Amino acid sequence: MIRIKDLSIKRKLLLIILLTNFITIGAGFAFIIINNYKNSKDQLVKDHLLDAKLIGDYCVAPLTFDDKRGAAEILSKLESKPDIISGILYDAKKSVFATYISEFTEQSEPDTIPSETYYEFTEGACMIWEPIKYNNEIYGFVFLKASTSAIQLELTRQILFSALLLVILLLVALLFGNRFQRIISTPVLKLASIADQISRSKDYSIRTKKLANDEIGKLYDAFNEMLDIIFVNEKERDHAIRELEISEKKFRSYIESSPTVILITNNEMELEYVNNTANELLQTGDITQDGPVKVIDFVPMDLRHRFSTMFSSVISGISIQMEFKFLSLKQNEIDVIMHGKKLSADQNIIYCTNITRLKVIEKELIAAKDKAEESDRLKSSFLANMSHEIRTPMNGIMGFAELLKNRDIRGEKQQEYINIIQKSGKRMLNIINDLIDISKIEAGQVKVSKSVTNINQIVDDLYQFFLPEARGKGLKLLQSKELQPDDSNIITDSAKVIQVLTNLVKNAIKYTNTGQVIFGYEIENEMVKFYVQDTGIGIKESLQKEIFERFRQAELDFSKEYEGAGLGLSISRAFIEMLGGNIWLESEIGKGSTFYFTIPYQQEKSHSDHSAKKSKNTFTGQPKLSKILIAEDDDTSYLLIEECFLSNNVILLRASTGQTAVNQVKTDKDIDVVLMDIKMPEMNGFEATSIIKKIRPELPVIAITAFALEGDSEKAYNAGCDGYLAKPIKKEDLLQSISKVLKPGKQ
Ligand code: ADP
Repeated sequence: MIRIKDLSIKRKLLLIILLTNFITIGAGFAFIIINNYKNSKDQLVKDHLLDAKLIGDYCVAPLTFDDKRGAAEILSKLESKPDIISGILYDAKKSVFATYISEFTEQSEPDTIPSETYYEFTEGACMIWEPIKYNNEIYGFVFLKASTSAIQLELTRQILFSALLLVILLLVALLFGNRFQRIISTPVLKLASIADQISRSKDYSIRTKKLANDEIGKLYDAFNEMLDIIFVNEKERDHAIRELEISEKKFRSYIESSPTVILITNNEMELEYVNNTANELLQTGDITQDGPVKVIDFVPMDLRHRFSTMFSSVISGISIQMEFKFLSLKQNEIDVIMHGKKLSADQNIIYCTNITRLKVIEKELIAAKDKAEESDRLKSSFLANMSHEIRTPMNGIMGFAELLKNRDIRGEKQQEYINIIQKSGKRMLNIINDLIDISKIEAGQVKVSKSVTNINQIVDDLYQFFLPEARGKGLKLLQSKELQPDDSNIITDSAKVIQVLTNLVKNAIKYTNTGQVIFGYEIENEMVKFYVQDTGIGIKESLQKEIFERFRQAELDFSKEYEGAGLGLSISRAFIEMLGGNIWLESEIGKGSTFYFTIPYQQEKSHSDHSAKKSKNTFTGQPKLSKILIAEDDDTSYLLIEECFLSNNVILLRASTGQTAVNQVKTDKDIDVVLMDIKMPEMNGFEATSIIKKIRPELPVIAITAFALEGDSEKAYNAGCDGYLAKPIKKEDLLQSISKVLKPGKQ
């Protein structure tokens, strides 16, 4: 049902007009009708009271003379009054004296007869009582009953007429009202339609013109003013929204591109937001699509309980920061630093910084630190060992040299002392060589210099070399070679192979007290596999890898039974790796060890004869010389060289500077060989050699140096030297070098 207040303005106005007209006109008509009705009734009473009075006056005489006929005759005059239904004349004792009854009705008597003038309306009639008085004496009473139907008819007629009139008037009012309500409804409807248009189009620039200066006109003004304000506000709001959007976008991009994992959860741990980094790292997927995804699903099983406890703290408002682990999609554990914080009553934020890489680095650093500490410990132990290793031979050299000063020591004793000094010197030299090797390896100065090498020859030579030492210890020394001599030429760095094999055989003899040492090689998978097997003390399994590290020895304490600096195996490993091979060992404590190393089996058949010859190019005799120039500033070194030639029939000349050497070559054409020390005052050996070579290109010059560093030999050869020897010089080496550089005729 439509409520009145929901009706349109136009209808409301029409309704008001109609209602107002209906009420006012209706009330007017009602008033008139009621008034007319009342007047008609009053008139009826007045008329019939007068009739009753007249009848009473006429009936005084009949009553006085008991003339009922006369009275009836008088009453019959009532016929002229058509509305009188009946009339009754009572005597003074209120007994019926005479009656009149209209032809249409029956006689009816009232129950009571009032003593005074009285009237009353009953249904359809009006009853009137009038006492008959004469000289203040009551003679009787007149009762008249008049019909009110005429009045009722008139009333009905008036009502009907009024109703008709009312309808006509209301129609007229509707007509005019409809016309005049527009004065109010049109501007209001216009305003409403503009408001509707604005609300639909959201165009607050629309304005409307007022139609009049009345209250609605003021409403228009107010409406337009309000639109102005809304327009400005709207513009500002749009601007603010745009700014907000830009800023939101900016901050969202910051958060999205942040390298930190950002997770926003509700209090049930369900993810509500994850940034790009989180998605990439944890592969959270589309959390809006995949239904509720819980952050705990990305926590490793064993840490979930801890995570729940931590999360409860966060919900209760305690911020946390801790190292933690999450799981990636591939179930890899990711180390993170996690911050958890309550954002609002039902939101929490978790930031995680991925520190997996840092953790790896940390582990590496700890390992490096441990290694550095271990190295430090090893170095201390190495230094102590080195001190022992150097002092022991030094002690022998110094001590026995001191004893030899005593002229009484001669013969066998003297020879024994000299042997001790020689052995100690050798031991010192080994240590120095090892140290130089290891520092060259560390400095990356070791170069591989490959040439044709006869590996059978190497095994044979080493066998010959170590045989006396092994026999001296009561050990059996055995060798094994797989290839035939002619096939055993390979391309490799012979010096390095010899050094490694020497070191292994030396160790095998050193660490074996009874039994045997067997060494050799076999060909396996295109590699030459050398081995050195002993029946010695063996090496603990835990140390089998470590002994290849620098300064590592199986025994690190001071109760060392065996001499050694712990460098040999690390040098060997470095050399073998340089040659493209491997080195390893098998060992059992108390039973013995086998060291293996491999090098590529690279054959060089075409050069085999030549190399075989070359490798057999050993010194066979002393050169036959006449004159040797020794360019040497150091007296001890000179004396040592002089000693080498004591038994030979040679003339030795000495030059203490490079310049003197040059001068002597210039003046003495008989000099056959020059032994040239490199480090000399005024002019060094390299310069002197190059000048000498210009003067006498055919004169052989052998460089002698104490540096023995990588590149020295190249420098010497570049300067024109024909040979190169490193100090300390052994007699055989020296003579062999000289025989090599001399022309055949001179040997
Ligand atoms: P060192 O000069 O001390 O012998 P190495 O580097 O050659 O140095 O050897 C390192 C350590 O390996 C030795 O100190 C020794 O403890 C152990 N070792 C090497 N070879 C053998 C072997 N054949 N038998 C037992 N122990 C060995």
